[in-house]
Amino acid sequence: MKLIGVLIQLNFLIPIIFSFKCGFNSLPRPKIQSILPINNTSNQNLRTLSSYHPLKIYVDYELIENSLLQETLDSIKSAFDLSLSIFKQLLLISNNERYTFEAYQINSAHSTFTADEVPYLLENSKNIEADLFLIVSMNTLGNAQARAYPIIKNKNTNRPILGVVELNTGIDTFSKNHIIFISNLLLHEISHVLAFNSDLFPYFNKLPNLQQTVSDIEINGIKRQFLSTPKVVEKAKKHFNTDCLLGVELEDQGGSDTAGSHWEARIMLGDYMIGVDYPEIVISDITLAVFEDSNWYKVNYYSGGLFKTGKNEGYNFLFGDCVNKNNEESNFKLEFCNNQRDPFCSPGLIDRGYCYLGIYPEDENIPKKYQYYSNPLKGGWDIANYCPVMQNDYEKANNFYYYSRCNSIGKENYTEIGEKLSDTSFCFMSSLVNSSLTEEIKSKYSNEKAICYEVIQCDNTLKHYTIKIGETEFTCKNGNNIESYEIEGFEGTITCPPYIRICSGTKLCNDLYDCVEKKIETIYENNNKKINPDNNTDNDPDNSKKKKEDEENKSNDDNYVIDDNKNVKDEYENNENENEKKPKNTLLIISIIISIILIAIIVIVLFCICKRKKDNNINK
Ligand SMILES: [Zn+2]
Repeated sequence: MKLIGVLIQLNFLIPIIFSFKCGFNSLPRPKIQSILPINNTSNQNLRTLSSYHPLKIYVDYELIENSLLQETLDSIKSAFDLSLSIFKQLLLISNNERYTFEAYQINSAHSTFTADEVPYLLENSKNIEADLFLIVSMNTLGNAQARAYPIIKNKNTNRPILGVVELNTGIDTFSKNHIIFISNLLLHEISHVLAFNSDLFPYFNKLPNLQQTVSDIEINGIKRQFLSTPKVVEKAKKHFNTDCLLGVELEDQGGSDTAGSHWEARIMLGDYMIGVDYPEIVISDITLAVFEDSNWYKVNYYSGGLFKTGKNEGYNFLFGDCVNKNNEESNFKLEFCNNQRDPFCSPGLIDRGYCYLGIYPEDENIPKKYQYYSNPLKGGWDIANYCPVMQNDYEKANNFYYYSRCNSIGKENYTEIGEKLSDTSFCFMSSLVNSSLTEEIKSKYSNEKAICYEVIQCDNTLKHYTIKIGETEFTCKNGNNIESYEIEGFEGTITCPPYIRICSGTKLCNDLYDCVEKKIETIYENNNKKINPDNNTDNDPDNSKKKKEDEENKSNDDNYVIDDNKNVKDEYENNENENEKKPKNTLLIISIIISIILIAIIVIVLFCICKRKKDNNINK
């Protein structure tokens, strides 16, 4: 599948956004000069103690090794390593899988290989042990960033065992966050090879009592396509809090390149398997369930509870309009905004951005079913059924909140109005300004902002949470509702999201992806500050101040401890993180006890030996 830079033009006011789109079509066929290696299993009869092992993906760089600058190649390899490390932790493969190779009989428009080529591919295989082999090639893909697709499957199980990832020769390997950018891209693309693919869904054929994996149903006058596999349905029912669900809606837009192989962006915004790039990228349990439902993988559900779009919003969120057509107001205040370019928080409350809404050119023709406003050309993000959602603005000059994740320590930070970026900060809609500030500062910040406040405590019993606005602590007591509050000593108001949107994540690392990303970002920022002018703050008069704040933030974060007794994890969330910690703690305790016993035995033995020697000496 490919990632395309999509140019969206909304009459002057909405800036250009580069995002990706996935698909199979209309791209040059890669020249495979060598092939990968499938371990054909001479040791398959050797069974290990465990029935499953972490997914091992082998990546062959042979096609690109000699044509790239070493620095570019290194970046690509680092990004692969990063994304593969995540798959390795999320997915397991049965030790008993036996391999017989066969080409997929998939839509020819989606495939660049034919069955005739399979014997050639296999003949050239090397004896490398892996569960999936990826061939990487680089091609001029026009405005596409990348594409990926499976080619060969295991005849016995239908599981993909060989696929291709094509990267655009112009892929950005030099910008500040390039490794994370490419890794994001690869996480998404490799998922298309592993399972998340309209060509693979029909091969999910070992599910009990299942007629078909994908179904087409018309609801509220709109024809929709659903992925209807059991675990996906189970996870989605729990997340959206509805029993009335036959499946999770797949994307209907973006043409054949995108439709059907991604989640519908309107309801799954922020998940990494929507069809276009989005500032908030998290792994949802719903997406992990796709891997489990394929029956090819065992899944570690370790998503950190970060996916929050539509959480507990029920049936109407899934099938109703995002905007009320009568009063043109958002029907879901945490997901959909009201006014063009107003500040707005992302649905996971991780990112600060602005409201993506505007007037499309006359030739855009917004489909009638997605027209929510009296002006038929007014709409939000096309891929999200033209709903008005949060977007980032990557042009610093355009935005009060330039590239602005609440946990991006060291980024732009409005401390004078109580903002703090940290691992425990979330985005709030607020116009709060401390009354003691000067009139000049007050007027500067008088409008409602999307602003990051530190959350210092979650009370699971009362469904309250406490935040810090500067040095002032305030407890949001709105439970499951959204409520606005005035606070003594401040002018303006703050809107508190429901408890579950704030307190369902786990800190300090939010999830696998988040942990790895932070690690890489830190390494990168420490080593490469001079590469990107935007990141080179040496000439910035506020630099020393910023550095100091960064250090303060970091040291505060180091000291931040969530008290597990006080902050009981949300009842709706799975407790994989906790479950992972428990065996470690148990092992530690057992090790300590064994050590104490051993030391005691040694002491007793030594004591006895000494005593016996002493007795012998006395006897002598
Ligand atoms: Zn895709």
